Amino acid sequence: MKPYLLSAADTAQLEGLLALVQNRTQDFLGYPVSKDFDYTPLLPFLQYPLNNLGDPFISSTYMVGSREMEKYVVEFFAKLFRAPADDWWGYVTNGGSEGNLYGLYLARELYPKAMVYYSEATHYSVQKNLHLLNMPGIMIRTLPNGEMDYEDLQHTMEMNRHMPVIILANIGTTMTEARDDISRIKGILKHLAIRHHYIHADGALSGSYSAFLEPRPAFDFADGADSIAISGHKFIGSPIPCGVVIARKSYRDRIARSVAYIGTLDTTITGSRNGHSPLFLWYALKSLGLEGLKERAKHSLTIAVYATSRMQENGIAAWRNPDSITVVFPEPAGNIRRKWQLASENGWSHIICMPNVTKAQVDQLIAEMLHETVAV
Ligand SMILES: *Cc1c(COP(=O)(O)O)cnc(C)c1O
Repeated sequence: MKPYLLSAADTAQLEGLLALVQNRTQDFLGYPVSKDFDYTPLLPFLQYPLNNLGDPFISSTYMVGSREMEKYVVEFFAKLFRAPADDWWGYVTNGGSEGNLYGLYLARELYPKAMVYYSEATHYSVQKNLHLLNMPGIMIRTLPNGEMDYEDLQHTMEMNRHMPVIILANIGTTMTEARDDISRIKGILKHLAIRHHYIHADGALSGSYSAFLEPRPAFDFADGADSIAISGHKFIGSPIPCGVVIARKSYRDRIARSVAYIGTLDTTITGSRNGHSPLFLWYALKSLGLEGLKERAKHSLTIAVYATSRMQENGIAAWRNPDSITVVFPEPAGNIRRKWQLASENGWSHIICMPNVTKAQVDQLIAEMLHETVAV
């Protein structure tokens, strides 16, 4: 096959973009994205129109895809998240946001008259999801560390006791990586005798590695979650944004619709589905294994401990939530934020100590922050 040919000017533009991307990936500490992957053995698949349209567990008349690998990825996470052995299902999504949309969609089909509760530290996409699904929601206050204020949750649910409850729990908020405690939330539901409830866990970043922590945070199916969404391009790493959503199979059965045109069940949000991203995730899981993933988590935590104490030693008011890889500190000057691509909110910035982040990078950032303090 001949590649499409470009003019000299277009080739130059493409090469320029590649150089820019390489350069900008270097000093990249502010977003939870791993960049230490190497999927070159998968390059030949770029020549094929992989499409996993429809349900991953039911074959389709469209047969150019990666369903077998997708099923492996789903099963891997269903087990890691302690889903009931005979009642799990899931698919590879376009990202954490789609996984959250899916969890809320299942919840709404189960409890159409429910109220959704989520904390004020919840990812911005969730409000949009609620809007798309036309679901009513109430925002719950957060504690100073970004975790849900359980007293406010209890008080607010008490006032709406006549309604079924849908909780969107954060397993790692975006700014401070605080984890809402699902067993504590379950306790409140029990205390209020609310029997109709659904808990969706947004584990975009931390959900991917929380299972490797000791003590294990209360975040998964065994703790009371009904569905869990993670992002694939965050902790694991992928050139294309992607994610995984795991739910109880009995819940997805309620929305499944057979479609003759694709010869499978329509159980996902989109029609055509990316067949390449399941390959990336499969490759990562197969090559790293549970041990490799655990190692990645350990590295990230070590760097986070290091960054926090180095900053504190140098007079920077840094802090982090227990067992989290996000280090929060007062917003540095604009040029430093731009260089390291640091997000900031209400005067605070953070770095996310992803598996590729090194102590040398942390040292350099701190040196620049101190220099800035002197210079100003
Ligand atoms: C990143 C993130 C999301 C969104 O995930 P995408 O993969 O970017 O769609 C949702 N929730 C939290 C807490 C996140 O950090």
